[in-house]
Amino acid sequence: MNTGPSDRTAPDPRLQRALVSLEGLSVGDAFGETFFASADAIVKRFEQRRPAPPPWFWTDDTAMAIGIVEVLAKCGHIDQDELAATFARNHAHDPNRGYGAGARQILRQIEIGMRWQAASKGAFSGAGSLGNGAAMRVAPLGAWHAGNLAEAAREAALSAEITHSHPEGIAGAIAVAVAAAWAADPKRPRGPGAAMLDVAIDLTPGGEVRAGIERARNLGPDMSVPTAVNALGNGLSITSPDTVPFVLWNAARRIDDFEDALWETATGMGDVDTTCAMVGGIVGAAVGRAGIPADWIASREPIAVIC
Ligand SMILES: [Mg+2]
Repeated sequence: MNTGPSDRTAPDPRLQRALVSLEGLSVGDAFGETFFASADAIVKRFEQRRPAPPPWFWTDDTAMAIGIVEVLAKCGHIDQDELAATFARNHAHDPNRGYGAGARQILRQIEIGMRWQAASKGAFSGAGSLGNGAAMRVAPLGAWHAGNLAEAAREAALSAEITHSHPEGIAGAIAVAVAAAWAADPKRPRGPGAAMLDVAIDLTPGGEVRAGIERARNLGPDMSVPTAVNALGNGLSITSPDTVPFVLWNAARRIDDFEDALWETATGMGDVDTTCAMVGGIVGAAVGRAGIPADWIASREPIAVIC
């Protein structure tokens, strides 16, 4: 079946949760993308908190997150060969979604028959990618595993390895998936999400990403966005350590308010489609479809998921 996530009645609660997180992720992605505009327009938009007129176009963040949800729907878990083939197929079908140069190269290599292990490990002269692309697409996988944080972390690493073999690229995906698994858990405590940062720190392997999340926790929720950007980054360098800590800081302090979380995240600018996609995927999982503004969903270009 080829359908949009808004009107689908999925019998599997795991899939329902993943589709809701994908809704939040794609709305965040498309909302964030509208801030690649003139400085005057952006300043006015922030001052008045008035979103850009529709349509809002989604980007590679959404395209790859759709691939993850499609594989979960088909296989019930992350099958790495299936995910590599799905990423490559979706990229070939619709390549002009703002994929990074490194991702494009890996996906083309897979498409023409190279094993994903070789393509991923060969990226960036053999260092592997530490970009934020594995983290940008993974929130629906966390939502699928709501409340099972260890399984979210394990499968996030599997999903990351297809394109991001550098440990920091994988760590970023683990952190976002764990955050989304925590957010989607109906039994989690209500209110500010400081506990989300704690569980992400517990399950993220040691390195720059985890050190950044520790700084985010120490900042506390009341710091200004510019102060947080100074301390944590905002994705401007497109790396996982420069992106994920800022995202988790924003998502944690606005975990119950989708609209506010996205506006606050956008004011940090940087890789703004991706920071907003990650926050949208996590906070969307927390608030559910009813918590995502209907007019924002209507402003986003439609998406289709094969499941
Ligand atoms: Mg993008």
